[in-house]
Amino acid sequence: MTASALSLKGGKPGLLSSSILSANPLAIGDGIRSLRSEGDWIHVDVMDGHFVPNLTYGPSLVRALRTEFPSAFLDVHIMVEPPEAFWEMFAAEKPDVLTVHAEATSHIHRVLQGIRASGVRPGVCLNPGAPTAWIEPVLHMVDLVLVMSVNPGFGGQRFIPEVLDKVKDLVRLRSVRSYDYLIEIDGGVNAKLANSLIQSGCDVLVAGNAVFGADNPAEAAREIKRNMGV
Ligand code: ZN
Repeated sequence: MTASALSLKGGKPGLLSSSILSANPLAIGDGIRSLRSEGDWIHVDVMDGHFVPNLTYGPSLVRALRTEFPSAFLDVHIMVEPPEAFWEMFAAEKPDVLTVHAEATSHIHRVLQGIRASGVRPGVCLNPGAPTAWIEPVLHMVDLVLVMSVNPGFGGQRFIPEVLDKVKDLVRLRSVRSYDYLIEIDGGVNAKLANSLIQSGCDVLVAGNAVFGADNPAEAAREIKRNMGV
């Protein structure tokens, strides 16, 4: 999928974003190749050991992914505080969308403005404990809203169903105000949940463990998409 398709205009996407967090870190490229194009977007979870209790990748990994997979859709989610100290180094590697957390900065509007001005599509994210109201003033600025369905930091956690109330809010606000962002959900997603998440209004499902933890990642991705009913 190309960056120009990051829009609901022309239909509901129903996409899978496969998180490399659950791939073998010594063989991330092989993990992506093992999806055989079934994984739609590639989701990169950047963790700073401060905003979230884990430490993962830097911009050099995004650069390496862009070089190795030039046509891949790179969905980069930076769990860093403050995002204003980090977003430029990630935007420089030209991800297809760059998502930052509203809770991690007092200046979310400025950060999103900067990402857009750099030529990268901005996304905004909320942790499970943060209300939709925190991002209402910036919803017109983003191409993607990411709803965390676990507390970020680790793969393989259980889905928190209460966050679906925020998905409902976001569907309603998009319709009432004629916005065009995609709604993505991240954490604890598996093939069993896929259909109900799409029915609840999610457009993009992030799956890590459910894809890269499987013996056959391509088949696991295919099953999630089959269950999405798209
Ligand atoms: Zn993520």
